[in-house]
Amino acid sequence: MSNPLLQADTASTQSLPPPGLVEKVSLERYVPPRKPSLVGLSRAKLADAFAAIGVPAAQRKMRVQQLWQWLYVRGARHFDEMTSVSKELRAQLDAHYTLARPEVVAEQTSVDGTRKWLLRLPGGHAGGPPHEVECVYIPEPDRGTLCLSSQIGCTLTCTFCHTGTQRLVRNLTPGEIVGQVMIARDSLGDWPSAERANKGSGVRLVSNIVMMGMGEPLYNFEAVRDALLIAADGEGIAISKRRITLSTSGVVPSIPRAGQEIGCMLAVSLHAARNELRNELVPLNRKYPIEDLLQACREYPGLSNARRITFEYVMLRGVNDSVADAKALVKLLKGIPAKINLIPFNPWPGTGYECSDWDQIETFSEIVFNAGYASPVRTPRGRDILAACGQLKSATENLSARERLALRAMAITD
Ligand code: SAH
Ligand code: SF4
Repeated sequence: MSNPLLQADTASTQSLPPPGLVEKVSLERYVPPRKPSLVGLSRAKLADAFAAIGVPAAQRKMRVQQLWQWLYVRGARHFDEMTSVSKELRAQLDAHYTLARPEVVAEQTSVDGTRKWLLRLPGGHAGGPPHEVECVYIPEPDRGTLCLSSQIGCTLTCTFCHTGTQRLVRNLTPGEIVGQVMIARDSLGDWPSAERANKGSGVRLVSNIVMMGMGEPLYNFEAVRDALLIAADGEGIAISKRRITLSTSGVVPSIPRAGQEIGCMLAVSLHAARNELRNELVPLNRKYPIEDLLQACREYPGLSNARRITFEYVMLRGVNDSVADAKALVKLLKGIPAKINLIPFNPWPGTGYECSDWDQIETFSEIVFNAGYASPVRTPRGRDILAACGQLKSATENLSARERLALRAMAITD
């Protein structure tokens, strides 16, 4: 594929992708550390890791169970905490592996309780600068939602999204994805068996996960799947699949896989009810038009009135926010068990879009409501730490100062 971005200097300050570009390819490569982390490995891969250090086959299953418990129930960070494992084996594990999660560079807590972590991940070039991504926790009275990133940057080029303008892309590993959940649990004292746990209630602070941070999760399918299956595993982190939502801009061929292989809830970034406009806002629409996308939604495994698809719709002034647009939207979604999430656009430096006026959002929301959809408009949270929708800082060291200071996008569904 001829990709003009590939010829560019990675340190260049140019940020906007050329018009007409539907997707980018990774410019960055994951370089595994000399001592790999066991975080994010499936049970089968953990068994291989034990095999590699000479643990006899007959013992591996039991060892995997032990390690799984230590890692995902107790949140162990060092092998020497694992008192049920023999000293010799602990030393052997320590010689070959780590239990590293992404490194936390900074943590900020908003007055409303929203918490944001800036995480450092290894860069793709030997000796090159590391990458940074953010992860946000939003507490609400009945739940606590963690918003995870799946890529550094994004493969796609949605015109209203700041992440879409960044050239640097690297897929996160399963460990880097599930590691974000572990970091949140560390920081919130949310491990069920940890001393600091949210005692007595049996209710976890991190009760929900949304894949709505940086990146297109379906363009990093295997890693996202492996990480979410670990997060949902009943003998570990144990967040129910009904409380895990994957948001996609519409990678149609991978939508059935998300249902079959992960079994999570689905959110679709629709943003327009007609192809002409969606081609402009979400260029991937040129590859997978609205009809194909909605067909994949209708066929989504497990779809029912109790398990609806969330359709996200960013409110852009004078672009997609007219009464006619609202009517077209409800007509389009007729017959699909759906929730509609209207997201006020969060501007970023250099964008040509503006957020719709509040009156317009209300009018739009009323049409959606009258058609039978609850249409909560998300109140931005964590404004004081810039963790609200569309306000995550893009912090990749390789980016220009302007880009680094620029704001990025995020939204949370129910
Ligand atoms: N790539 C996935 C998930 C990450 S984006 C996706 O596109 O669905 C999460 C949500 O934030 C998407 O619905 C996206 O359209 C929305 N979004 C992106 N930029 C935004 C902005 N500046 N203001 C408001 N929402 C934005
Ligand atoms: Fe990527 Fe989602 Fe942003 Fe589109 S909206 S560029 S898919 S992160």
